[in-house]
Amino acid sequence: MNSPASAGGAQAATNPLLTVSTLPYELPPFDEITNAHFAPAFEAGMAEEQREIAAIANNASPATFDNTIVALERCGQLLNRARAVFFNLTSSNTNPDLEKLRSELAPKLSAHSDSIYLNPALFARVSALHEKRASLGLDPESLRLLDRTYTLFVRAGARLSDNDKVTLRRMNEQLSTLTTQFSQTVLKGVNAAAVVFDKASDLDGLSEQQIAVAAEAARSRKLEGKWVIALLNTTGQPPLSQLKNRASRERIYKASLDRGWGGEFDTTKLIAQIVALRADRAVLLGYPTHAAYVTEDETALTPDAVNKMLAQLAPPAVANAKQEAAAMQALIDAQAKTNGTQAFKLAPWDWDFYAEQVRAAKYAYDESQVRPYFEMNRVLVDGVLFAAHELYGITFKERKDLPVYQEDVRVFELWNADGSPLGLFLVDWYARDNKRGGAWMNSFVEQSRLLGKRPVVVNNLNIPKPPKGQPTLLTFDEVTTAFHEFGHAVHGLFSNVKYPQFSGTSVPRDFVEFPSQYNEMWATEPRVLANYAKHYQTGAAMPGELMDKVLAASKFNQGFATTEYLAAALLDQAWHQLPTGKTPSATDAAAFEANALKQAGVDFAPVPPRYRSTYFSHVFASPIGYSAGYYAYIWSDVLARDTQHWFKAHGGLKRENGDLLRQKVLSQGFSVDSLTIFKDFYGKAPDIGPLLESRGLVTE
Ligand SMILES: [Zn+2]
Repeated sequence: MNSPASAGGAQAATNPLLTVSTLPYELPPFDEITNAHFAPAFEAGMAEEQREIAAIANNASPATFDNTIVALERCGQLLNRARAVFFNLTSSNTNPDLEKLRSELAPKLSAHSDSIYLNPALFARVSALHEKRASLGLDPESLRLLDRTYTLFVRAGARLSDNDKVTLRRMNEQLSTLTTQFSQTVLKGVNAAAVVFDKASDLDGLSEQQIAVAAEAARSRKLEGKWVIALLNTTGQPPLSQLKNRASRERIYKASLDRGWGGEFDTTKLIAQIVALRADRAVLLGYPTHAAYVTEDETALTPDAVNKMLAQLAPPAVANAKQEAAAMQALIDAQAKTNGTQAFKLAPWDWDFYAEQVRAAKYAYDESQVRPYFEMNRVLVDGVLFAAHELYGITFKERKDLPVYQEDVRVFELWNADGSPLGLFLVDWYARDNKRGGAWMNSFVEQSRLLGKRPVVVNNLNIPKPPKGQPTLLTFDEVTTAFHEFGHAVHGLFSNVKYPQFSGTSVPRDFVEFPSQYNEMWATEPRVLANYAKHYQTGAAMPGELMDKVLAASKFNQGFATTEYLAAALLDQAWHQLPTGKTPSATDAAAFEANALKQAGVDFAPVPPRYRSTYFSHVFASPIGYSAGYYAYIWSDVLARDTQHWFKAHGGLKRENGDLLRQKVLSQGFSVDSLTIFKDFYGKAPDIGPLLESRGLVTE
């Protein structure tokens, strides 16, 4: 008998995603998983969770904390397993088959989630328990789990009437379609906006290799004999810091800034629809605005709190940017005088070019002097992991016997100071064509005492891989990023919670960057630095004066960096604090954006927002994403700077400090409210002072 059904059965029996891994810490058996295993694992996982949910919802016994709330925490383990491996791989080692499956899965997974949160019988049980929560005799973490579960259901629309639920499902569906269209249009738009040059001399200032890349980009677009500069999806573009030809800079800059405002890849109509729909959905869910809906579940709690914080930062940031602009204008004027040419007024497309010259004149060093001291393995073992050993007493050993999903990935096993096992830490630092940009931490297995799981986490960076036999030498930025991502990793690794929902980094967006931003401080701590910053050939320590220059230069141009970030954060709030019926039409989008920047006092022409509305993917490219939440980075940074300040005041790098942070913050996940966690550690409410100081934003 070889019917399709039995063939499927045979495949199921050998699909490694369908069973719990037997490897240490349940590390996925990467050497056995193939592309073909995912679709059946997702199907089986969703079906299994539906059965589990039905069993809870239709249970004839009255609801108890165990048979409902804890049972929900145990649900969907097969689906979660498939999801963790799948989404890690589509981020860091993807291929066309996985990408095709990803687009097919998105609507299915969203409908699957709606079917759980909008299930009336299930919510009736959650709600009944929530009503009598005080009398259930629950421990604090369990009581919080009940509260959070109830909140998640309510926020997802569980209390709505049947009619409103129909409306909500339709809105969610529309939003997911519109935001997918936004992301696809932005991607096509950024590719189409690549700038074509007719002469190599237009690109004067770029390296030979960059010019060769531009010629190759032209050939691949059938523009033989020309040069093409491809754009990134930010307002600023890296070549602007190098291009000597002012007209070339202007062309690239304008091509970037004008994306999406009309034409084939217009996104203004999508924005108008998304913003209107979000405002309507907020009202349906009982909130005045989308921003109110979003911030309620963040540590900020209200749009007012966000506004207050951003308003406090904007004036000094813009004032600093203006000072930076004045220094560049002076340079432009002096050069014109020396060369006998006409001086001109600093334009936005000139900023990076002259900032680079001011930086070089002021700090007198270049990257090639620094990199030999930042060899990748030393940075990892003698830097990142060394600091963690000094702070938390953890020890580690590389496990070359365990399977990985790509040959460059490294696996480390970590132990606590008392010798007990902690978890696995995967290191995937090299860039690849099939890896998305940026750097991030993710989990393969999330810690939870209920399910008896220890963490398996991964750090991804995008460090260019050198030719075989050459050392991997990092930039100072890459070193800082390595420490940053490990801050997220320890947040996952030190998690010591009972319930999966609270594990590790499952905290609000405006809190999650705090442990990582804090951890950056160890990159430049003298004892850590002395341990890892050694010349890769001679082993000589990095000269102190060179390090001083690097540190001083890292504070340079902060007025610009803070202003362009704040402008985008303020724009995000402006769009999402609009009440229903007051959102602008597509044709008014440009005027709305200009007015929002003006009202917020960040309309300083040489420093436009890091993202203009039409290509602001953080906030418009997924149903929630970072909408009304782009402020989160600077909100977390307040906590991070306070913590750095606290460490300095308490003797810096030592076990008792690290252990205290671990006990009070890093082990707690979301089992305690995030602001409470912070105050318990810091001894008082967050203080914005250290952040202002670190960015040079202190005003008298
Ligand atoms: Zn981060």
